[in-house]
Amino acid sequence: MKPGKRSMSVGTLNADIRISDVIAHPLTQELPQPTVTSWGKYTEVSIVLVEVRTDAGITGVGEALARFSPKAYCELIEGSLKPRLVGGNATDIMTHWHSMRRSLSGRSGGILFEAIAGVDIALWDILGKVAGLPIYRLLGGVGRQEVPVYAASVNWGNDEFMDEELDRYIEKGFPRIKVKVANPVKEACKRVERLRKRAGDGIELCVDANWAYTLEEAVELGRALTDNNYFWFEEPLRPEDESGYEELHRRCATPLAAGESNYTLDQAMRLVANRTLSFLQPDVARSGGITETRRMAEFAAAHDVQYAPHIGMSGIVCETASVHLAAAMPNLRAMECETDSSPFKTAITGAAPGADRQKNGMLPVPTGPGLGIEVDWDAVKKLTVK
Ligand SMILES: [Mg+2]
Repeated sequence: MKPGKRSMSVGTLNADIRISDVIAHPLTQELPQPTVTSWGKYTEVSIVLVEVRTDAGITGVGEALARFSPKAYCELIEGSLKPRLVGGNATDIMTHWHSMRRSLSGRSGGILFEAIAGVDIALWDILGKVAGLPIYRLLGGVGRQEVPVYAASVNWGNDEFMDEELDRYIEKGFPRIKVKVANPVKEACKRVERLRKRAGDGIELCVDANWAYTLEEAVELGRALTDNNYFWFEEPLRPEDESGYEELHRRCATPLAAGESNYTLDQAMRLVANRTLSFLQPDVARSGGITETRRMAEFAAAHDVQYAPHIGMSGIVCETASVHLAAAMPNLRAMECETDSSPFKTAITGAAPGADRQKNGMLPVPTGPGLGIEVDWDAVKKLTVK
């Protein structure tokens, strides 16, 4: 098609938009169905929503991963971060990121970085609304209108339970499915073989151990994963054991995945730079928001490591911010797609969770300005912890 003549005025958008308030909302709800991992059973879930207001009437929303003690995050956001933000230009995101980071004088990590993530996502939402563009375009998208996702997860349970969960995800049309593995390792080996036979060769399978194993146990399960053509082995060891990951990489042919436990690029750098990891999985609601997660994904791209956004017991804001990053990063493998019906997805915006909107493992990218979602603040009020 011959491009038509288009005239657009290119203005000098001198956005002097000042942050006027920062409000943190602690939300807790019971899960309709427990999540079971090698850590145990989660029956309730918490997140923190961050609302950043401006003097231009534009409001941004972000989400902090806050599995426990959500009110402690709110104290931190409103007590320590807000005074650094109010009065500043909302579009100077990097300035605010570094200012917030300086509220901790030690090494990066912990709930502060999850709190920063919540504010940072809200600032990107504001920037998108000011520019009239979705975040994935602000990030310099690579033309994706939809992103590949995988079902998370077949929970750890007995054979019958795991079979049923697998069948359910296949029926929903997911071509990629994650399986939770735990101890005893011999049982895990049997189950990955059993599920591969049940799924057939046409479904891509991977596993997540949530640090369940010793090095030797991980090597043992790694053999079963290789024999049964699983495409990644996620968090086999505790995240601090970097030399353990390096040793496992030498002894396990299945590619390794990790990153959801990292707060910053610094913590991911070694295992990405030496290519111990084949997949890096930062969670935008933990890893300092869109600003830091983007750096991590780009560093991974520079080392031929693929990016696979993590979400877990997350709300719709985290899920949507992850979709924007997934749409923009050239080294995307697939994004996690939770199959539970957390109230923090539908109740907050009215939108169905990604698992219900995906078709054949592809999830559409929102096209509205910023995150492209409208938060129902009355619904948020109802979910807020008193
Ligand atoms: Mg995981």
